[in-house]
Amino acid sequence: MTSPFVTRDGSRWMPDYLTAIDGATCIGCGRCFKVCSREVMHLYGVDDAGEILGICDDEDDFEGELNRMIMVVDHAGRCIGCGACARVCPKNCQTHVAAEPPQHD
Ligand code: SF4
Ligand code: SF4
Repeated sequence: MTSPFVTRDGSRWMPDYLTAIDGATCIGCGRCFKVCSREVMHLYGVDDAGEILGICDDEDDFEGELNRMIMVVDHAGRCIGCGACARVCPKNCQTHVAAEPPQHD
C-alpha cells in the first residue's frame, strides 16, 4: 500500500509507531530513550521473578529487590513513528506498527 503520509518535500513517509518492548530480551541499555524526542519509554526496575518494581532513578534499588532494568513503553500515544529507536536497539526487542491511514468523512 502506498503511504498517504508525506514529508515536507512531498516524499512518501510511513510512521512506524513503537508499541511494545520485550522485557525478556531488553537489556536496559537506554539507547532508545536517548534518541527518542518524545519520552515514549522509560527505564523500569525488575525483580528476580521478572515483576516490574517501578520506574528507575539512579539511586533506587527498590530496597534490595532490584535485579535488572528494562525499558518499558509507558507512553505509547506520544510516539510519532520516526523509527530512531529501532535503529539503535542492539537486541531487536521492539515491536513497531505502521500508522493507520487517516479516515476522511
Ligand atoms: S519511533 Fe521515534 S518517537 Fe516513537 S518511540 Fe521510537 S524514537 Fe520515539
Ligand atoms: S535499545 Fe533495545 S535493548 Fe536497549 S533499552 Fe531500548 S529496547 Fe532495550
